[in-house]
Amino acid sequence: MQNARTAGHQDVTVLVLKDVIGLRFIPCHRMPSRSPHWFGRQFPLCYRCLSILIGYLATPVFLAANLRFPIWLGVLLNLPMLIDGFTQYRKWRTSNNALRVVTGLLSGVGQSMVIATCSLWLSAWLLRWV
Ligand SMILES: [Zn+2]
Repeated sequence: MQNARTAGHQDVTVLVLKDVIGLRFIPCHRMPSRSPHWFGRQFPLCYRCLSILIGYLATPVFLAANLRFPIWLGVLLNLPMLIDGFTQYRKWRTSNNALRVVTGLLSGVGQSMVIATCSLWLSAWLLRWV
């Protein structure tokens, strides 16, 4: 039986699912001119955020292959995106979507390197206690 209280819970569940599926939980400006459009509809993330997300797909690959990287390399791969974003934010120059994709991918892969390396270090350290 459905009452106002359970209907409210369903509404919250639907809203949370819409936020998750629509990627609304990711902070992004979602400017139409900086977002990809497929079949006439705007993707819920800009080119930069989408590219970072795609770069994160490297994390399970690095973990499965037991690949470890120098942390400085992962940090270094984030610098182009930080420089691109900062100089545009300060209105020193204007970026473009191709540059946002490339720097976003580098950032996502760099973050994946740091995440995978730290995860492998942590798991090896924890396994010493088992
Ligand atoms: Zn974005």
